[in-house]
Amino acid sequence: MLKQQVPWIPLTPVEQMAQADYDVLIVGSGAGGGAALWRLITEQSPKKGMRIGMIEAGGLLLPTHARNLPTFDYQRFLRYLENPRYVEHMQWPEFPGEKIFRALGGRTLHWYLMSPRFRPEEMRSWPITYQELVPYYLAAEQIMNVTGEYANGSALQETLLHRLRFGGGFPDAQDLPMAVDLDVTQYGQLHSNVFFSSIIFLAYALHIQPFDLAVNTRVVQVVTEKGRAAGVNAVAPDGKTYTVRANTVILSASTFETPRILLNSNIPGQAIGKYLTNHPTVIASAKIDRNQFPEVLGNAAIMVPSSAERNYMFFVVGTDPLEYWWYHYEERRLLNELRLAYFGLATIEPRYENQVSLDPGNIDPYGVPQLKVRFSYTSRDEAVIRELTDSIRSSAAAMGLEFYEPPCLLPPGMDNHEAGTCRMGDDPATSATNRYGQIHGVPGLFVADNSVVSLTGAANPTLTTVALAIRTADYILAQVI
Ligand SMILES: Cc1cc2nc3c(=O)[nH]c(=O)nc-3n(C[C@H](O)[C@H](O)[C@H](O)COP(=O)(O)OP(=O)(O)OC[C@H]3O[C@@H](n4cnc5c(N)ncnc54)[C@H](O)[C@@H]3O)c2cc1C
Repeated sequence: MLKQQVPWIPLTPVEQMAQADYDVLIVGSGAGGGAALWRLITEQSPKKGMRIGMIEAGGLLLPTHARNLPTFDYQRFLRYLENPRYVEHMQWPEFPGEKIFRALGGRTLHWYLMSPRFRPEEMRSWPITYQELVPYYLAAEQIMNVTGEYANGSALQETLLHRLRFGGGFPDAQDLPMAVDLDVTQYGQLHSNVFFSSIIFLAYALHIQPFDLAVNTRVVQVVTEKGRAAGVNAVAPDGKTYTVRANTVILSASTFETPRILLNSNIPGQAIGKYLTNHPTVIASAKIDRNQFPEVLGNAAIMVPSSAERNYMFFVVGTDPLEYWWYHYEERRLLNELRLAYFGLATIEPRYENQVSLDPGNIDPYGVPQLKVRFSYTSRDEAVIRELTDSIRSSAAAMGLEFYEPPCLLPPGMDNHEAGTCRMGDDPATSATNRYGQIHGVPGLFVADNSVVSLTGAANPTLTTVALAIRTADYILAQVI
């Protein structure tokens, strides 16, 4: 008979968590939840010793980012992640590309690590300024090891950047910021966990102070008492429901699951679930003759950022579109044609009409109504997508690339950047959370995930989500200390 495996991270069953009283309880362990946990534990006063718990719907899939595992290549890693225990393909006609991923670490176990900031002008409609966010961006970049040096010294990178900048019409083309730890071992300190995932947040926290973590446990409702957060109801793996009590609850279950929990709890707020945004994503694959480059070639990781004229940004990565990460033990094929991939992200207008709501006729096995999604692009959104596509074409011409898969718009959901359903703002009529991520009018109830971000900029959301989660954690600490 198989013995039960010992987990690689300490776990606490939810029935045991139901006996405790937490200062802070975090729901979800992805980018937002992990960042909030790390910050609360590292910044709290040592005397305070807050009791912190985390509840995660998924199981222990991987102890690190998938690309840190030597046995995965891209295809093997995709097959592994497609396991229906972890991925649910949603059936939303207007958002057909969406998959809900549930595992400890959330989607940071397999994200692409692109970590640009929003530009100050892109945050004009936000309740906080870019300057207020700068220290949090810096903290996020430091803990996530964000660097523009991934393709440093690569002849391919330098040649393509030169072609884009000089005569190509893209003078601001630059190295793509990525969350990769490129430090070498120094003084016996190892830096082998190269690609960043939320598991690193959990590790930093764990080595400072223990916290309780329940996995395979689905939070279905927030519990309130006298108008303020008092805990959550969570369903254990055996199907029993437990109430876990907490003074402060942080929902970090993602753009779709966080409003679903809030709506299922009858938390008041006209804007909860509204203003869903995504990044319409244009992809393409291109090739270039290898003989244009010197013997020692290297990789490419290029970003053309958004600007006053461009409501979009795009990335060019190579030299194999699917394998722009590569280790010394992965043999690289010698190709006559080098292959590069484009990822282009456009901004759309945040609109009330783009929204999620509960579907009372469609209840999941946990007793929670599924979501319905209403979503469409406006003619302004479509114009930006056309500009992005034209720009990708002209940049390819500037670099001497030839398409073998021309620019193509992905269905909504496949971008994985959905956001905005609990966006921050000062007006409860048009925002679900205040400038610190607290649900308007419900003390002790916070949101820290992509749903608080209004995608008014073209930058990939995760760095900004992490920066905002750190800010929310600091605000919570300032209230209790
Ligand atoms: C293939 C891919 C590539 C990507 N590349 C990039 C990139 O290069 N740059 C970038 O910025 N972003 C990228 N992203 C997006 C990035 O992964 C997300 O922006 C980020 O993970 C969102 O963080 P989050 O905290 O909102 O949600 P998640 O990371 O999805 O975490 C949510 C967590 O909540 C848990 N959960 C859900 N419901 C419940 C519940 N009811 N109870 C308890 N727990 C629950 C989930 O299991 C999960 O662990 C990519 C995503 C994918 C899939």
